[in-house]
Amino acid sequence: MSSDVYSKNRIMENFLELTAIDSESFNERKMADAIKDELKELGIVYSEDDAGSKIGGNAGNIYAYYEGNSAYEPILLSAHMDTVVPGNSKKAVLGEDGIIRSDGTTVLGSDDLAGITEILEGIRRVKESGKDHRSAEILFTVAEEAYTRGAAVFDYSRIKSKEAYCFDLSKDVGEAVNKAGTLISYRIKVIGKASHAGFEPEEGVNAIEIASKAIAKIKQGRVDDETTLNIGTIAGGSAKNIVPEECVINGEIRSYNHEKALSLYEELKNVFENESHTYNALIEADYTVHIKAYEVDKNETLVKRFVKACNELNLSGNIKSTLGGADNHQFNANGIKGLVLSCGMENVHTKDEYIKTDNLLAGAKLVEKLITDI
Ligand SMILES: [Zn+2]
Repeated sequence: MSSDVYSKNRIMENFLELTAIDSESFNERKMADAIKDELKELGIVYSEDDAGSKIGGNAGNIYAYYEGNSAYEPILLSAHMDTVVPGNSKKAVLGEDGIIRSDGTTVLGSDDLAGITEILEGIRRVKESGKDHRSAEILFTVAEEAYTRGAAVFDYSRIKSKEAYCFDLSKDVGEAVNKAGTLISYRIKVIGKASHAGFEPEEGVNAIEIASKAIAKIKQGRVDDETTLNIGTIAGGSAKNIVPEECVINGEIRSYNHEKALSLYEELKNVFENESHTYNALIEADYTVHIKAYEVDKNETLVKRFVKACNELNLSGNIKSTLGGADNHQFNANGIKGLVLSCGMENVHTKDEYIKTDNLLAGAKLVEKLITDI
């Protein structure tokens, strides 16, 4: 058996094993333990931090250090251990077409177990090859799917690497994101006044009516070429015969331009404020910046190293941008330049999620190249 066939079978097996473990966000305990066992087998030193107790989960981020035998700078490799819902009792099915799918009742969990198994298999390959390699720091995080909460509480003073590759992107292995946006979520509550809808409607201040008038004035969807705005939920009123006292809307704003996202929130708030003012209503408004926009220059070493590795492995090496979030936001915010790399997952966050097994091997070979191409 050629070493690639052997390696492919091994990573597939590992992938199927890990997908069978329940690991929805904040419940990554069993996954963390299984991964620790694998690191132990690989002879790599690891530790788990206290992220779980900080964010209300049952496991922490796992940090591991794969000691190199060259003087070259270390790099950080990362992926997340949690999956979205429905992610319990997952049953991965390997088709004759070489594609692994879920059984249709849950997500598959290739987001992000593809990333995790590719990193682990990449290191196994390096070890077996006996090649010289740089040091690699490994960070497997919790609660990435909850606005990167696990990565947000990691202590980055522990990280020696100045460059990171975050394996957490859809599409065939060989693509990378060097530019990603800010994500703000917001909540606005319009507070009017209740009254009997039939007897004395004049006494009431209709919060739903005010919210609707404000919403009608707000441009939603793609606001411009770098910004989106969404009103995602609306709730209000208490009964058919009561003028509604409250109406609450929740939504998000994304933009490649951080300042623009913030000012768009202010504009949105002003529209609600002005409309409420007209009717003697009040508003309560607040927002949270979950992730902050970043861009890594295409001339940076980590981009060049990635593109070179892709060329040698016959992968596209395509560099692009996204308004999606990833742990890489936290790395960049903490002074570590990072790219998000595709690891073969498709249709993520749906029950139709799948991955081609060829991508698992390609991802492992890419990890191997990034560590050994010194
Ligand atoms: Zn992910």
